[in-house]
Amino acid sequence: MRISVIGSGYVGLVTGTCLADWGHEVVCVDRDPAKIELLTNGGVPIYEPGLEQMIAANVARGRLSFTRDLAAALAGSDVVFIAVGTPPRASDGEADLSFVYDVARDIGEAIDGYTVVVCKSTVPVGTGDVVERIISQVRPDADVTVVSNPEFLREGSAIEDFTKPDRVVIGTEDERAREIMLAVYEQVRANGQPILITKRRTAELIKYAANAFLAAKLSFINEIADLCEHVDADVDEVAEGIGLDSRIGAKFLKAGPGFGGSCFPKDTLALLRTAQDHGVDMRLVETTVSVNDARKRRMALKIMDAVGGSVEGKTVAVLGLTFKANTDDMRASPSLPVVELLQRAGATVRAYDPEGMPQARPLMSDVEFTDDPYTCAKGCDAVVLMTDWDEFQSLDLERLRGLVRTPVFVDLRNVYAPDKLVKHGFTAVGIGRSTQT
Ligand code: NAD
Repeated sequence: MRISVIGSGYVGLVTGTCLADWGHEVVCVDRDPAKIELLTNGGVPIYEPGLEQMIAANVARGRLSFTRDLAAALAGSDVVFIAVGTPPRASDGEADLSFVYDVARDIGEAIDGYTVVVCKSTVPVGTGDVVERIISQVRPDADVTVVSNPEFLREGSAIEDFTKPDRVVIGTEDERAREIMLAVYEQVRANGQPILITKRRTAELIKYAANAFLAAKLSFINEIADLCEHVDADVDEVAEGIGLDSRIGAKFLKAGPGFGGSCFPKDTLALLRTAQDHGVDMRLVETTVSVNDARKRRMALKIMDAVGGSVEGKTVAVLGLTFKANTDDMRASPSLPVVELLQRAGATVRAYDPEGMPQARPLMSDVEFTDDPYTCAKGCDAVVLMTDWDEFQSLDLERLRGLVRTPVFVDLRNVYAPDKLVKHGFTAVGIGRSTQT
């Protein structure tokens, strides 16, 4: 199958690379010249475990290439994936679909022969209809079917998620497109993973419903964590205790500093806008969002409490900046508001992240970025573990204790058993459990 993927970001690049790895002939397109130049020269613009090697192997096999020239990529393509960003509009949180619509126009101009146009970007219900309309306005004789195929991969485990998905959702009522999409995902079918075929609008909504549900699970366990701190219970044990119930499931029950990243915050807001447009109340989703918004302030207050109530004139060492481990993505990371709140309260903030610092630098002002966790912690009044990178799972606590000014360890991911921190002389402040000294 000859496939073009428009947009070579976290989703497009992984999609294109994995499809090439399955044997399809793939051209990845991006309008960012720097990205395409880097990819053409063997570089990878994002950090995603295993991606660099997979790209190199498929480029070497001649199945994967990169270009800025959308028309050239489309020539002879059976399938075109749209994988451009759909960020929240600053004005109202609604998904900004301008990138998707631009690509739809470009596709209309370049299309040749029957083509399946696949919306892989996360788009509100009804966007497929608009994409179809744009293409047919630009090219009234275009022979296309617009399909929805939302993506569920997680950054950090994107290759595994794409190649061994819990399910693939394909939204189309067109028989011809359905067969082509099944051929695209033949490997998934061969592996026995489910492929769900629905109406296009249903597929579009599945993506938002999935993300809103997962976000709700996180806000729920974060509220339980707050209660645990008041009643001397342990949130990780509560999560284990409820997660063992197969009706609940253990995943997405890890209390922490709040959800972030490029999907949950924007997709929950976009779902609320869609609901409002249709006069539907979604109070659970509304609360999920507001609990998460309040969480960042709560984390900043927790850090202030840990150092005696005020961070004025104090130095805080932040370990981890990305919204989760194994990605360099800083979009909507909880570290951004937490650091800003600490600075506003008079703290000096020092930070270290294994992969996220290049993306963090332009987003954070007056932060001293350091080369490793120990330099970061030197002379500080609190160490804050913000992201649970592997590198932070086995810190040399003895060494750390010798470097800090005040031995306070605020573990926002509950990586360390409190008694281990206490044994090394730290005051151990965690999430959803009592502080130990
Ligand atoms: P991204 O910002 O990393 O990548 C988007 C890419 O599209 C950029 O490289 C940009 O230069 C390119 N682009 C924009 N307009 C273009 C155009 N007209 N022509 C060619 N290229 C263009 O975004 P992402 O994280 O890959 O997300 C893409 C979509 O997938 C979004 O809708 C997102 O919600 C969804 N999604 C993301 C994830 C995730 O974990 N990142 C997971 C599932 C779904």
